[in-house]
Amino acid sequence: MDPEKLEEFRQRLLAERGRLRAEVQEDVSNDVATPGMASSDHAQWEASGGSSNHLADDATELFLQEEEIAIDNSLRGMITEIDNALERIANGTYGKCERCGKPIPLKRLEARPFSTLCIEDKAKEEQEIAQHRAGLASRQNIV
Ligand SMILES: [Zn+2]
Repeated sequence: MDPEKLEEFRQRLLAERGRLRAEVQEDVSNDVATPGMASSDHAQWEASGGSSNHLADDATELFLQEEEIAIDNSLRGMITEIDNALERIANGTYGKCERCGKPIPLKRLEARPFSTLCIEDKAKEEQEIAQHRAGLASRQNIV
């Protein structure tokens, strides 16, 4: 690949990783603030003798925490993908399909700079995942 183009992708990946890391760190600082708030809420709840209203709040809070963890995990997953892409830039394998070794079309890389597979192999991989899931589901039905 054209070294200038490669550098452009590297800059884009670094900027994107910085943005994602900032988002994950914001989540972490929110997590630190939550326990203090929760314990004062709990004290209030005990002082008021408990209310069914508060139980609903707890359920909402738990749901939000689970959602936050899911978002956090997907952000971390993306950071890992970007790290892998940067590693491939460093070792000169960036832009090649991990399965067939053919170059990944530039348009695809521009849309998704951390792509590791060409369009054909990506489609195959998705098919395999779907088949695997279907296989697991049918096995569960037999049991
Ligand atoms: Zn391929």
